[in-house]
Amino acid sequence: MANEIEEGRLSAAEYVDQLEAKYWSRQNVPPTQVVGALIYRQALRSGKMSIGEFGRLLKEFGSSQPLLSNLMMTFLFQAKLSAIFKALILDDENTGHVITSIPTTCIEHFRHPNAMAALTPHGDPFILVDAKFAACMHSMVKLLLHRARSTQQSGVASFSESSLLSDRDLAESLKRLAVYVFSEQQEALPHIPARETETFQIWGAMLVHGLETFIICHELAHHLLGHKGFAVEARGEIAELEGRVLSRFQEEELEADTLGAQLCYAVFEFYRDKDKAAASKVPPTWAQEIYATPDIFCTFLDVWERSWGMRWSSDRHPPGALRREKIRRTFSKLLPHEVVEFAKGIEAICESILATG
Ligand SMILES: [Zn+2]
Repeated sequence: MANEIEEGRLSAAEYVDQLEAKYWSRQNVPPTQVVGALIYRQALRSGKMSIGEFGRLLKEFGSSQPLLSNLMMTFLFQAKLSAIFKALILDDENTGHVITSIPTTCIEHFRHPNAMAALTPHGDPFILVDAKFAACMHSMVKLLLHRARSTQQSGVASFSESSLLSDRDLAESLKRLAVYVFSEQQEALPHIPARETETFQIWGAMLVHGLETFIICHELAHHLLGHKGFAVEARGEIAELEGRVLSRFQEEELEADTLGAQLCYAVFEFYRDKDKAAASKVPPTWAQEIYATPDIFCTFLDVWERSWGMRWSSDRHPPGALRREKIRRTFSKLLPHEVVEFAKGIEAICESILATG
């Protein structure tokens, strides 16, 4: 593969394709996931895939939970990125770079949950997202944001009487999510019985969209800022593959957070138009809480780090709490007061739940 890239025969998308196949074959994963890679490549090649077609292929090749979630995440994140490119007219005025498309891929089982702005050996950008990482974001939204929403609506600080999950159960659930994220053994997303999570689908979907948009915008920002990073020797990590998955200095991470949040806000602004959102297949911006998602993302990282007692990434991303502080300091005066208060409310809920656990 390295030679083909040296000779310029592989496009960035084809490179990502091969990277993924190689990764899967190296991991000794069950055949269903390799089948997942095949379906994924087929979909990429055809350029589009309807739900019907997706179902037909799944039926043909068999189905499994990891396969399904991996595929869905990949499609989801690629759609997110396409929506971002539609919303942002990226010029080289500030960045000196023009990027109009980047392949995205989801691979399970990074050593740590992560998303990465990576480069092919040729220097072409692509973005890698860990599927566990995204699945956990969904669960965190279900657990914490619903609690916050309910608290906000009822105006009651203590929610223990009307809530179906006690603080203690919530703390236990958070811990299990952190274990799932960090453990190399535990493969199945823990089932968390929480009837309270089922009643806020649309609002939750919008906030999940906000969080994922921030993840992608952060990685996009690394590319736009021309961050080169440096290769690290990290045992068992994907850095061993031919592509360059890099560690970066803390300062660069904070820069990517700042530009990433800025890009995010521009995207949310664009999708206030619900017709544009529908055309891009993303949730419209119909509640301003979505502007709190870059801040909330960092709070989630902080919760994981503290629940599990370790850093969420082995590279040099700063701790979640530090990243949140930088984002807050930079943007809190520019955002509506309610948005800032909402993000602080999430932090307060997390603090009290973590104290219980
Ligand atoms: Zn980064």
